[in-house]
Amino acid sequence: MHIMKVKDGIIGLVIGDALGVPVEFNPREDLKIDPVTDMEGYGTYNMPPGTWSDDSSMTIATMSSIVNKNGINYDDIMEEFLKWIEQGKYTQYNNTFDYGVTTSHGIYNYKHGAEAIYAGGDGERDNGNGSLMRILPLAFIPDIDYKTIENISGLTHRHMRSKISCTLYIEIAKSMLNNNLSIDEHITLACNKIKEHYEGNDELEHFSRIFNDELNDEDSISSSGYVISTFESVIYCLKNTDNFRDAVLKAVNLGNDTDTVGAICGGLAGIYYGFDSIPIDWIDKIPKINEVVELCEKYEAYCDGCL
Ligand SMILES: [Mg+2]
Repeated sequence: MHIMKVKDGIIGLVIGDALGVPVEFNPREDLKIDPVTDMEGYGTYNMPPGTWSDDSSMTIATMSSIVNKNGINYDDIMEEFLKWIEQGKYTQYNNTFDYGVTTSHGIYNYKHGAEAIYAGGDGERDNGNGSLMRILPLAFIPDIDYKTIENISGLTHRHMRSKISCTLYIEIAKSMLNNNLSIDEHITLACNKIKEHYEGNDELEHFSRIFNDELNDEDSISSSGYVISTFESVIYCLKNTDNFRDAVLKAVNLGNDTDTVGAICGGLAGIYYGFDSIPIDWIDKIPKINEVVELCEKYEAYCDGCL
């Protein structure tokens, strides 16, 4: 059953995040000379090896809320985000060292009275990858609907481009969970569903390079924090590797927004290749990974109960 795959995806995401943290913002040219090949530490944020960042923290905050409330409660998810950003909950060292501007605006809008699903920014410039990086848990919920995925994106990122990015990502993950196909086939299947669901929406044009499989030239891929660039990078890495390790290392070594490209790629690669494909020595280097595994098991039980 697909619901037994929570750990594959979520631990894959945490690993991709932690691999990227020490080199976040490093240019691709520098990483070509001195690439990441292992779970390293320090660097950009001077954190020990295996430190995860906002991508993993917000992902596990979402799962924790859903487990505790036995369902999706937008206010409660926001309360957990608030505890993360203000108190360092869901971090390994009670230290929130990395968050995006749009994300923090959404969380503080909620704190100051905005309704949760209207708290996120909806301007065109609010299309960083901040909701895409934390949306994966929804893929494991049977029959999750597009409106709910859009609303959860909208807690921080309410522009339609971010929302469509999230639904496309969930569709790819769901296809990997439910079908035995190649990566190319999963992506094609998911793209077709998105094109059908959002038919006539002008925002679809921003996904044309993904839809039309025009991502074969690395120089044309910008691994920036813009949600479309991040998504294109993830697709590029998945399509051009054949195992978990190479996929996440390729993602991180594209440079720039390394942890988030790594996390989003790691989530899908974890589901596609399975937990056993994730190097165990990397998992062993993540402090508090056992707490994440325990949460994955509880979350699996929640998803199981939805059937
Ligand atoms: Mg991060």
